[in-house]
This record gives sequence, C-alpha cells and structure tokens, in this order.
Amino acid sequence: MTTATQHLPVPFLDLGAMQQDVQAELDAAWRDVTGASAFVGGPHLERFEQEWAAYCSTTHALGVGNGTDAIELALLALGVGPGHEVVVPANTFIATAEAVVATGAVPHFVDVDPDTLLIDPDAVAAAIGPRTAAVIAVHLFGQVADMDAVLAVADSAGVPVVEDVAQAHGATWNGRRAGSFGAVGCFSFYPGKNLGAFGDGGALVTDDEQVARAVRSLSDHGRSLESKHDHPKVGRNSRLDGLQAAVLSAKLPWLDRWNDGRRAADRLYREQLQDAPFRLVAQRPESESVFHLEVARVPERDRVRAALADRGIGTGIHYPVPCHEHPPYAGFPRGALPVVEAAAREILSLPMHPHLSEQQVRTVSAALLEESEGLGEPRA
Ligand SMILES: *Cc1c(COP(=O)(O)O)cnc(C)c1O
Repeated sequence: MTTATQHLPVPFLDLGAMQQDVQAELDAAWRDVTGASAFVGGPHLERFEQEWAAYCSTTHALGVGNGTDAIELALLALGVGPGHEVVVPANTFIATAEAVVATGAVPHFVDVDPDTLLIDPDAVAAAIGPRTAAVIAVHLFGQVADMDAVLAVADSAGVPVVEDVAQAHGATWNGRRAGSFGAVGCFSFYPGKNLGAFGDGGALVTDDEQVARAVRSLSDHGRSLESKHDHPKVGRNSRLDGLQAAVLSAKLPWLDRWNDGRRAADRLYREQLQDAPFRLVAQRPESESVFHLEVARVPERDRVRAALADRGIGTGIHYPVPCHEHPPYAGFPRGALPVVEAAAREILSLPMHPHLSEQQVRTVSAALLEESEGLGEPRA
C-alpha cells in the first residue's frame, strides 16, 4: 500500500497501477513471444506451467482458455458426467455451477458458513448421496474454505474435491497453498483476478498424473498424447496462449507483493471500521486470505452503496443473486440456503487492489461510517 495522498474518486479496482509495476517486463515478454512466433503452445507456455506448478506446490500445472473451462475439464477428467451430482456452494460466481452443467451433471447447492460465507462442511455432508461425483470448494473473496473439514467429509464418502481458486491465487490454509488440497485446483487469469492476463486465461494444478494426462488430451481435441493424429475421445479446444503465458510469467514475481498490498489495505479497513454498526466478512486464523474482494455486510446496502457512488467511491456486489435463484439453475437439487439468501441482500464489496493508498482506505471507511450511522447489527 502506498502512502501517497490521492484524491477522489476511489476506484473499485486499478489495473493500470499494476501494469505500471511490470511495464518493462511486459514489453520484453511481448517482443519475445512475437519474435519467436510462439503463439500457441511453445516455450512461454511451458515455462509458465512450470512456474505456476512450483508456486502452487503441485506436480503439474496445465494452461487452459479460462477459469470456467478449467473447472469443466477438471470434472471431466475425474469422470463426472450425466447422472451425477456435484456439490457446489450457492455463494459463488455462476461459472462454478455452469461448469458442472456443461459436463452433463447437475449442481447440488449447499449453504455457506455465516461468518466466512464459504462452503459449510456440515451442509456438504448432508448433501452427499449416491449420485455425488465431486465437491467443489470455492475460495471466494480470496479466503480459503475450511479444507480440513471439507476434505474429511469428502474423503469419508470417497468423493474427490475440486478447488475453485479463481479468486485466491496465493492464499493459504495452515501455510499450504490454495489449489494443492483437492484432486485438482482450478484458476482463472481473467484480467481483474489477483493474477490476471491481458485477456482470458486459466489453469489447472494437480499432483495426479492421470488427471493431468486426461486434461492435456481433453483440452487438445481429445488427442492421444502418444500419437498426434489419434483422437480416442471427443475433446475440445481450450488453450492458454503464448502471449498470455508470457504476461503471466512477467507478473508472477509480483503476485506476493501485490497480495501483501491487499492485506495491508485490509488491516487498515479492519482498524478503521472496528466500531462500525456492520461487519467485514470474518477471517479464519488458519487462512491467509489474498483479499480478492473486501466484503462488508451492510444493512440498507443499496442506499449506502448509492451514497458512496455519489461521493465517487466505487463498490461492487459479489453476488447479488445466489446461484439457485437464476432461472436456469432454480430446478437443481439443494439444501436449505438461509445464510446465502440473507447475505445476498447485505454484501458490499469495497474498493480493494494492491495500490489502494492509506488515504483512500481512510476516505472509504469514513464515508461508510457516516452513511451507516444508526444502522443496527445485520441479521445473522
Ligand atoms: C472468475 C471466476 C470463475 C470463472 O473464470 P473465467 O476465467 O472468467 O472463466 C469461476 N469461479 C469464480 C469463483 C470466479 O471468480
């Protein structure tokens, strides 16, 4: 976090500042890829896959076209398909559920923990049945879900866990990196994520050689890994381009610093808002979040949000409509979902990015305290 005094407006996100940190490396990477005409596959992709596997402490990393493809390919590699259910938290970006539907399976929505708004392991246990083929733990907002409990429940049922790490690049649970707990970890490199490409991109990480081979083949038209012109399965085309891989390699050395910047902003938000009549989403001590989002639970959220917008403060809502309330997803199996339904009316994502200044955090916090004066404690 910089200490430079900046003036309003306070943007929700500032991609330009991150780009300036790495401009020289990005220029060099760009020239390197275009000079080598290595646009698909090639050394830049291989290099980034090795670097990303090392960063996540997994044996394999495989670049794909986007985060949604990563989840779908992970499920397909695990044998998920028609007739199966996949347990999914109802509090996630729709892509998590969409990827399940794309395999021919159906999502089984479960509720979230009232403090962290992350998947509730007890609800997972209640949802697992004879059709359950996988559980997807989503590390939403940058905080790792309770992986000890989720893995214990899934392991005892013999069901694999897929991690949706699209919002948690570099986050840890008991010191271990998100994405390295389950059978597969799935990342998005959409530009606004903590590690973002200059367009779409995604990756899977795994220690499972069979899963890695299956994904390698499925993402390359079902091609045999041994014989170029054999296609033993119907696959698809999902690639991380050479240019995107080179951009990601150039940015990766900055990821921890950028995440530290987000954590510093979070610490100041928590200090400034400790007496507020509302809460920030709670942090578990086992988890070191990378604060993709800083989410508050504010009664009269829509009024407060509009007042902040009038002051030039950008906010977001992640997500105003839980997955099961979108019409195409309304008919899928689900447990009771009171926590996510109540939270959807109160959640407000505050400005959060690595270059948010102290002054900006103080400005947002002061505005929030003024606009929320007199509000009661939010519903649980
Ligand atoms: C962004 C995101 C995705 C999808 O990633 P894309 O690269 O946009 O396909 C999936 N899950 C979550 C939680 C996300 O935030």
